Amino acid sequence: MNDTNKPTILVTGGAGYIGSHMCVELLQSEFNVVVVDNLCNSSSASVEAVQRITQKPLTFVEGDICDQNKLDEIFRSHPIEGVLHFAGLKAVGESNEKPLAYYKNNIYGTMNLVESMARAGCKTLVFSSSATVYGTSENAPFNETEPTSATNPYGRTKLMVEQFLQDLHASDPEWRISLLRYFNPVGAHPSGEIGEDPNQIPNNLMPYISQVAVGKLPHLNIFGDDYPTPDGTGVRDYVHVVDLVRGHLKAMEHLADEPKLAIHNLGTGQGYSVLDVVHAFEKVSGVKIPYKIAERRPGDVAQSFADPAKANEELDWSAEYDLERMCEDAWRWQHNFPDGFAKAS
Ligand code: NAD
Ligand code: UDP
Repeated sequence: MNDTNKPTILVTGGAGYIGSHMCVELLQSEFNVVVVDNLCNSSSASVEAVQRITQKPLTFVEGDICDQNKLDEIFRSHPIEGVLHFAGLKAVGESNEKPLAYYKNNIYGTMNLVESMARAGCKTLVFSSSATVYGTSENAPFNETEPTSATNPYGRTKLMVEQFLQDLHASDPEWRISLLRYFNPVGAHPSGEIGEDPNQIPNNLMPYISQVAVGKLPHLNIFGDDYPTPDGTGVRDYVHVVDLVRGHLKAMEHLADEPKLAIHNLGTGQGYSVLDVVHAFEKVSGVKIPYKIAERRPGDVAQSFADPAKANEELDWSAEYDLERMCEDAWRWQHNFPDGFAKAS
């Protein structure tokens, strides 16, 4: 099924929101793709949609990155040259309730992965980190030298993985490791066939607004309008998921030059408030988004946005899509599939 002339990439968590968009980009860029995903927060329908969009096959393995034998078997069965590691749990609130599940999936799972990689002689890894590692810093725009910290178990898992991967590289400089700190990934593939599919009431702003727009939720709660920002609502750096995954291809090219451990922000550098997002979404969808002002959400910072200069210069990457395009693509997906992949499959 795989073309032996093309390099093979393992995408952990490739059935998920960002991973599925990554698979589209990889298949369209002439890679063979192997996905491992335990489907704990996704559906195999996304993998089918990826193959429909690209008209190219991929190999899907249903499995858990905590299962060492399964990982070893994948590396034995496929000539994997690099790993894009998206698998993990990502809900901040849930991480407070189930910290051990977060430490197990995100830290132990990544350690397992890295051990299997080392055994197979595959030492190229791109890790999905997060702007959450900038903690409660008020120094936005953040560049990569900003001191890191964490305020919840999810953030701690990202920070700890960053740290142990740095230790790993220091102990064996043959590793090629890219730590990508995502700001706020939103939007969907322009086909409207794949997108973000929260399995409960969304925690994040864009999917929440999308579900209000499609009539699944009555109104948006805006968490605070008294922040020291231009309109009082929280400011974030929203980045289109297609731009984000293209940053991973650039990061792999950067690693191909020579072994290194590199850290890059993936963000646009432009902050938008909650109300900016509401208004942009209303404009492109033509749907009014009712909202109420609610209490601040514990742990939220007033503003978080990237200094993307390092990724611009070293990776030759910058985001192309603007906020309206992010909303337009998020809306197309939500409108096509109001119940997400449950409906699509
Ligand atoms: P997602 O939940 O849609 O995708 C993660 C995928 O990993 C899911 O398909 C899930 O089933 C799978 N998975 C989880 N644990 C697994 C395990 N033990 N073994 C195998 N598969 C497993 O999330 P996403 O938004 O696509 O995020 C991808 C990565 O990016 C995550 O590591 C997340 O922490 C990170 N990240 C996401 C955001 C964001 O806002 N979406 C921001 C910063 C960083
Ligand atoms: N937000 C909101 N209502 C919601 C969800 C989010 O007002 O239902 C706000 C939140 O307070 C923050 C911004 O939207 O200012 C982005 O929140 P999200 O959870 O999407 O990302 P994060 O806070 O993790 O950057």
